[in-house]
Amino acid sequence: MNSGARAQKEDGHMHEMGITSGILASAVEAAQAEGATHINSVTVSIGDLTEIVEDALQFAWEALTPDTMAEGGVLIVVHVPPKSRCVQCGEEFEHDKWNMLCPKCDSFLVEPITGHELRIDSLDVD
Ligand SMILES: [Zn+2]
Repeated sequence: MNSGARAQKEDGHMHEMGITSGILASAVEAAQAEGATHINSVTVSIGDLTEIVEDALQFAWEALTPDTMAEGGVLIVVHVPPKSRCVQCGEEFEHDKWNMLCPKCDSFLVEPITGHELRIDSLDVD
């Protein structure tokens, strides 16, 4: 029973493992392009509408960075709150994952502005 639960948890990390692997590869490429030898930190923006779990990203970072330029470096995650624009009245508003109604006119015809981010904001390298 315990091993089953553990396997499930590892499966749950697979998505973030791939994302972190991509972040790390991009960071290493950018650092190398600058002639750097070590990555001290990588700052990423993650929209709150994504299903990405920060703990899982950190877990993957710890697992993937040894023996890379980012060994001992830090992954800094900036959460971006979801924001949308109402198609009916043009109101821009922040909201949570579940409630996207326009606060001004109650329309549900809204288009997302932020919340789906997944990008590297900055690198700190030596
Ligand atoms: Zn509206």
